[in-house]
Amino acid sequence: MNHYQSALEATEAHLRVLQANGVRFLNIRAETLFALQQSVPQPPPQSNAENARKTETLLAVQPLVSEASQPGTPQLQRSSAGPEQDERVEVHPIPPALQHSLGVGQKAAAMAALRERTMACVKCPHLVKSRHTVVFGTGDLNARLMFVGEAPGADEDAQGEPFVGAAGHTLTRIIKAMGFTRETVYIANILKCRPDTPGQSGGNRKPTPEEMKTCLPWLLEQIDLIRPTVMVALGATAVEGLLGKGEGITRLRGRFQTFRGIPVMPTFHPSYLLHNSAVTEKRKVWEDMMQVLEKLGAPISEKQRGFFLKA
Ligand code: URA
Repeated sequence: MNHYQSALEATEAHLRVLQANGVRFLNIRAETLFALQQSVPQPPPQSNAENARKTETLLAVQPLVSEASQPGTPQLQRSSAGPEQDERVEVHPIPPALQHSLGVGQKAAAMAALRERTMACVKCPHLVKSRHTVVFGTGDLNARLMFVGEAPGADEDAQGEPFVGAAGHTLTRIIKAMGFTRETVYIANILKCRPDTPGQSGGNRKPTPEEMKTCLPWLLEQIDLIRPTVMVALGATAVEGLLGKGEGITRLRGRFQTFRGIPVMPTFHPSYLLHNSAVTEKRKVWEDMMQVLEKLGAPISEKQRGFFLKA
């Protein structure tokens, strides 16, 4: 057993003793947590699985500190959490969310490392075969607002960026109408690969529950790093993937849900507005977005309040 493994085992044993004695919080520096995520040394071949299990166990011990709240902050960009401080860590096997206070550089490095792992994902061999690229996500790592869609289409698969096709243009317009840009929010999908359509020359299909379940951990890691103030679930599949709710977007839209402590607004998928361009439907989405703006503490102008009120 090398030095790293001994340290890992001793740490795990110590955490378990603390946990057994009822300890629920302990102090750990964010950079220590970050280092744990980054610097897992190459284990000897025979202990690969065991080492991975232990690393996972350790990384499941996650800090509970929430960042300083910014009530009524109208800007979309969050400021960085500043210099790293000691943090309280919950000792819990399945914590609700990774909360941290990484510095700007650390967060960027952590996201870059996550991107690298995601881009190399081969968990769904059928999708690996058909995809051009993994569509990771785009936008500001410190975004207070995050949009989650369903899965890449042909344009996204070709360009490697979510929502760049026809539905994407509609989403971009919505984002602009809210007073933001694609660069100041974060955009990702439940599924990172385009769903294949074997035997067809084109077209899209909904991701299967199995595909969503397999892919979700990537999105969870993105959400945990970004920690948006508010999320928008675009369409029924995003709602199903995130919240496990299949009760229909028509019933759910307009009512905030909660995912890992983050308010999530379900709304219609932008492609729905492409097929149903009635002003009443646009207004519904817009009313959902105004609720999101309110939740963010962002100002809403009279002009914005009047969008899509008249045919
Ligand atoms: N539809 C989605 O849900 N996501 C995309 O990235 C593009 C279209």
